[in-house]
Amino acid sequence: MPAKPAPKPTALSALYWAAAARGELSAPWCGPCSDWVFPPRPRCPRCGGSEMGWRAPASTGQVVTFSVVYQAAYEAYRDDQPYVVAIVALDGGPQLMANLVDVPDPGAVTVGQRVELTFEARGESMQVPQFRPAS
Ligand SMILES: [Zn+2]
Repeated sequence: MPAKPAPKPTALSALYWAAAARGELSAPWCGPCSDWVFPPRPRCPRCGGSEMGWRAPASTGQVVTFSVVYQAAYEAYRDDQPYVVAIVALDGGPQLMANLVDVPDPGAVTVGQRVELTFEARGESMQVPQFRPAS
């Protein structure tokens, strides 16, 4: 069984993945718009500004939508089948796509379900943000 792929940071995503490697979430924030710019982009889509600060959004949120994967496209994920991929809206933060883990019954996942951040190790030193049902 091949290993799950590790992220390959780009210039735009390097700070995001460096934070994730430390077990933290960090996302670009446009000060003039007082809003998140996520995923990271060279310019704010609202004001066109390029001066982005980075902030830590909340580590809790809710499921916006999700899909249950019964046939993984990659062999490395076959042991996880069926697994859940979700769009999660962080509390007061941006939305991101991630797997839901620690889900004994994917059929019981619901839109609006409360979730909390966790991380899965990848490669030598990377970690991938994921979510699990809030305790
Ligand atoms: Zn802006």
